[in-house]
Parts: sequence; structure tokens; C-alpha cells
Amino acid sequence: MVCNQTDKVQEAETLIIGGGIAGTATAFYLVRYGRDVALVERGEIASEASGVNAGQIGATGWGDMPDLGSYLTMGSLQLFKEMQLDLGYDIEFRQSGSLTAIHTPDQYDYMRDRVLDMRSHGFEVELLTAREARAIEPEINPALPAYMHTPLRAQADPVRATRAFADAAARSGARILTNHAVSGVAPRAAGGYLVETDRGDIVCESLVIAAGAWCAPVGRMLGLEIPVVPVRGQMWATDSLPPSVFLTQSSAESAYAWSKDDGSDTRTPPEVTHKHGTRVTRHLYGRQRRNGEIIFGGDRQMTGYDKAVEHTGIEVNKGHASEVIPMLSSLPIARTWSGLMPFSMDGAPIIGSIPTRENLYIVSGLASSGFGRGPMAGKLLADHIHTGHRPHVLAEADPARCVTDI
Ligand SMILES: Cc1cc2nc3c(=O)[nH]c(=O)nc-3n(C[C@H](O)[C@H](O)[C@H](O)COP(=O)(O)OP(=O)(O)OC[C@H]3O[C@@H](n4cnc5c(N)ncnc54)[C@H](O)[C@@H]3O)c2cc1C
Repeated sequence: MVCNQTDKVQEAETLIIGGGIAGTATAFYLVRYGRDVALVERGEIASEASGVNAGQIGATGWGDMPDLGSYLTMGSLQLFKEMQLDLGYDIEFRQSGSLTAIHTPDQYDYMRDRVLDMRSHGFEVELLTAREARAIEPEINPALPAYMHTPLRAQADPVRATRAFADAAARSGARILTNHAVSGVAPRAAGGYLVETDRGDIVCESLVIAAGAWCAPVGRMLGLEIPVVPVRGQMWATDSLPPSVFLTQSSAESAYAWSKDDGSDTRTPPEVTHKHGTRVTRHLYGRQRRNGEIIFGGDRQMTGYDKAVEHTGIEVNKGHASEVIPMLSSLPIARTWSGLMPFSMDGAPIIGSIPTRENLYIVSGLASSGFGRGPMAGKLLADHIHTGHRPHVLAEADPARCVTDI
């Protein structure tokens, strides 16, 4: 259903640039409304961040006053379930729950207060002793003071899930044009846009920028400054092992550090692990894939568009992971990889219409949790485009706050 042929000049009511989770979800929910949709992707579907991420789906509940965060996480959770359970795509979805390791007494005090606060607002989290946590995840470190358990969190295979959204969109009538790199965009006098690709031009009435870490260069084609910066994430995997890690894993170390200082300045978005080239904290996420590989990662470092894996960071991450799952310390690293995450400079998503241009939309800034939040980000934008009314929760993600003319 995904094609890589373009016939001369094509036309589409809505054209989406980017075949990651944000773009494919937008395509799927728009075409389900009966809209005429095309999507252009310069590589294959899921060839960037959406295909190389850890596959963790964060969700802690709707809470008693659902905000954008609740909508993006809990809404996406439902949409992943729909893909796997109702539409029949095997995306390796599993609502496994998650554990967050607490390493020190200071982290314990911080996480205890956070859990109490979240529970008082209706979220589903609990503190477990190491003994209680080992009853559900036998390989975790019994010597750590405590763990936070988040039962709603889930996992899925990122490539399979993103391709499922693209395939479902194509089956509903969207044209998914892979191996089409956008090199220029110009507004048309008659309205809409002319989008130049290396496989031919496409004319559209509405345009959606879903180009992940490349939103800024695409924005420049339109004379716009889009404050999305690439942040490198890198991961490593063991060889395939028998089932040993059942929940998704993380650590409280970075959350505690960022609660003291989120690290942001004019050049640095909040909550990255390195500031001006120097490590400020260790971040951790991981899980065991269905193929048996145990995968971990965590670093968030600004290296421009350089994606080369930096091995010192991988070793630091493996040490951190081994503090949580001691069996990892004796296992060799079988492979490593990396990808670029789209961080907005203020840390918030950018989803909605760009007010200084007609019929121009963006869905980005999903940062380090865009796989888990991408489906609902795309659906909310599709709702916005289709109805002409902004869903109220998107006020928090309004592009008007940060997208400016150059
Ligand atoms: C190592 C790592 C681990 C992560 N782990 C998790 C996790 O466990 N859970 C989670 O929720 N999130 C995670 N993330 C973050 C998540 O992957 C991203 O937030 C999300 O995938 C962003 O999706 P996107 O569609 O906005 O961008 P992308 O997936 O990057 O898609 C953008 C697409 O636009 C295309 N494009 C760009 N420019 C052009 C052009 N000129 N013409 C045509 N196409 C173009 C690109 O080729 C790309 O395919 C992780 C990220 C990394 C790198």
C-alpha cells in the first residue's frame, strides 16, 4: 500500500511532510474523516526517530483534570490498543506496566512526594519496596531502596507500530509516498502550496509539517523560524535472551536532577542529559523486545544532526542499567544505534495551525516521548484540520507561542 512512484504533478487536499509516528497518525485520522490525504517521506516509513526508539508508551491515567499531557498519553494508549486489538496489526503491543528505580534517600524523598501528589490528583502510580517490586520483576536489584510502579504504561515495536499507522492510512485511501525528499515549498497565488520533491511537484490546499527533528529546515523553506532542535538519543542491545525483563524500566536519577534544575537556557531545551557538551545527569529507559533482545538507552545530547553513536555514553548507560538489573553487567553489547528527537526549546509540544500562514499546520516537539504521544498528537491535529476548531487541550501546544517569521 505504500508507494514510491510519483506521476508528474500530483494534487492533494492535505499533504503531510514526514513519515514518522506524528505524520502517519495524522494521515490515518484525517483520511478516516474522508479527507483526501497524501504523505511524503524522504526515506522509508519509520526511518528516523519513530523507528529507532525504545518503544515505551508512557501513561499514568487521566487524572482529575485532564490536560494536554493526559490526552496525549492516555489517548495514544487507546489508539495503540485499537491498532493491535481491533484493526488486527501485530505491533507487539503489551500493557506491561513500568518500574522506576530509586537509587538514593534523596531520590526516595522526591519520588515519595511525587507519587503522593500524583495519586491525590487521580493518577495511577504506587511506591513499592524492592521486595514487592521483585515479585513482579524478578531480575531487578534487591539492594535499591524502592521502585515506583506505573501499571498503565505499555510497550510496542516502534517500526511495526508506525508502519501500521501508514498502512491503515493507505488502506483508507491516503497516498503514502516514500523516497520523496521535500526540497522546497512555496505558497500559491490561488491558495495552498506547491511542494517540490526530488520525484516531482505536489500541489495541496493544506500542508502539515511533521518532519520531526527536521522541522526547522522545512520551516525555513517557508520563511519560518520553528524552534525545534535535534537531540541525539542512543541505545544498545544484548543478544536475544529467554524472557527475563517483563516491565519497561527507568530510573529516578534524571527526574530528581531535573527537578532541581531542568538545565534549559537560550541554547539548551529542558531535560537533556548533557549541557554544552558536559554530562549533567544519567537518564535511563529499557525493556526486553519480543525477539529477546534487552534494549536500553537514555542519553539526550545536542550534537546537531550528527547521529554517530558515542561509546562512552553507551558504557555509562550500561552501568546505570546494570545498577537496576544486575544480570546486565555480564552481558556483552551486541549492537548500538541512535536517532534524533525533536525537542522544542520550551519543552512543550507544538501542535496546531501556524497563524501567519494560511492552511499551514505543524505536529512536532514531541521530544523524548513522541512515540508514546504521537498517535493522539496526530489525531488531535486531524480533528483540528477537519472541524476547523482547535480542540481545547491544544491551547497548551499552540504554535503561535513560538513559530515566527524569519
Ligand atoms: C533513541 C531514542 C529512544 C526513544 N525512546 C522513546 C520511547 O521509548 N518512547 C517514546 O515515546 N519516545 C521515544 N523516543 C522519542 C520518539 O522516537 C520521537 O519523539 C518520535 O518518534 C518523533 O516522531 P516524529 O514523527 O515527530 O519524527 P520522526 O520519526 O523523526 O519523523 C519525521 C520524518 O520526517 C522525515 N523528513 C524530514 N525532513 C523531510 C523532508 N525534507 N522531506 C521528506 N521527509 C522529511 C524524516 O525522514 C522522518 O522520517 C526516542 C527517540 C530516540 C531517538
